[in-house]
Amino acid sequence: MSVLPDLAAIEALDAADPLRSFRNRFVLPEGVIYLDGNSLGAASSSALAELEQAARQEWSQGLIRSWNKAGWFDLGLKLGDRIARLIGAAHGQTVVGDTTSTNIYKALHAALALRPDRKVIVAESGSFPTDLYMAEGVVATRAGTSLKLEGVDAASIEELIDESVAVVLVNHVNYKSGALRDMAALTKRIHDAGAIAVWDLCHSVGALPVELDAAQVDFAVGCTYKYLNGGPGAPAFIYAAHRHHNHIQQPLSGWWSHARPFAMETTYAGAEGISRFQCGTQPILSLRALKGALDDWDDVDMQALREKSLALTDLFIALVEARCGAYGVSLETTRERERRGSQVSFAHENAYEVMQALIERGVIGDFRAPSTLRFGFTPLYTSYRNVWDAVIILEDILSSGIWKEPRFAVRTTVT
Ligand SMILES: *Cc1c(COP(=O)(O)O)cnc(C)c1O
Repeated sequence: MSVLPDLAAIEALDAADPLRSFRNRFVLPEGVIYLDGNSLGAASSSALAELEQAARQEWSQGLIRSWNKAGWFDLGLKLGDRIARLIGAAHGQTVVGDTTSTNIYKALHAALALRPDRKVIVAESGSFPTDLYMAEGVVATRAGTSLKLEGVDAASIEELIDESVAVVLVNHVNYKSGALRDMAALTKRIHDAGAIAVWDLCHSVGALPVELDAAQVDFAVGCTYKYLNGGPGAPAFIYAAHRHHNHIQQPLSGWWSHARPFAMETTYAGAEGISRFQCGTQPILSLRALKGALDDWDDVDMQALREKSLALTDLFIALVEARCGAYGVSLETTRERERRGSQVSFAHENAYEVMQALIERGVIGDFRAPSTLRFGFTPLYTSYRNVWDAVIILEDILSSGIWKEPRFAVRTTVT
């Protein structure tokens, strides 16, 4: 952005925003500029209405009958198909359930089972830590397997991919820097070496268009409580390409993944299709909130979403650099639009304190150790004016030095 916009230009951008009306669907507190929807999405009226209906009618009145009558049993499969459009997946390949961490465990095991002669898992040292912890857990259960990391065993992930590699686990958008990987190109590189590609979509689903089928991805996992707004702890999803369905072996072979769960058979027989990735009984109230949240997504044009996301992040970068550049902030997110997710990170030596001061002033972003100020831009409920106002408050906090007050240095558990 060469010329910085003024307030009139900002208001014109909001007036012309095709996604403007979505803001009214969300319940957000007065006086808050919420730039953390990449960590916990906002509540929408339809998510809350579904939750209320599920609790007061289906549970309270329907009781056990609701497993059939309210469609509780198939909910994970139905919601998987609702997410499918957002991740470029044909129906029947996605199921909602369990956590992203658990789903990574299942996907890595399934991938290793598809490549029995290979023993290496490749991942990124800069990946969201749970991905690495789960990969370590997988390695611990399979003799001879090992984990190789980009940033430790080689500088780039491409250098690690060879004929010894069974599976590559990658984050589509990096949780900290916001860097976006080229999914199609990297998946092709992985396949050229005969390996399996597992993509973690936690920071891309609902943030930008994702095309799993077109990129011929093997497996993918993702969160629903971030950009999808499913609510705190809403279950995750897992995708498996159709071509693998007859060969899926996953270690968490609970009764929900059985071909005939209510036959109560003594031995295991895996279900056909994506059901085989289920495990046990799911948190139905959370799934119902997610169902409401996904109703909001049905009308969203993903290209318009991406354009607004990039416009918001471009604007934030330009304004912060112009107004706050003198106060020790430096950009950690790429300026290259094609390689950027929907968040912007700035490093600051006292990032923790600065973020606490921002939150006290109603600008909610988050802090990632050791020195990252992270701001997520959710196009459905963030306006250009929000960006403008947030930067004015950040400038005030940095120029006044108010963040140095001791109360901002008190550490909490969740940052
Ligand atoms: C948020 C996030 C997770 C979270 O996993 P949970 O099991 O839901 O706690 C995993 N991977 C990535 C890349 C994330 O951003």
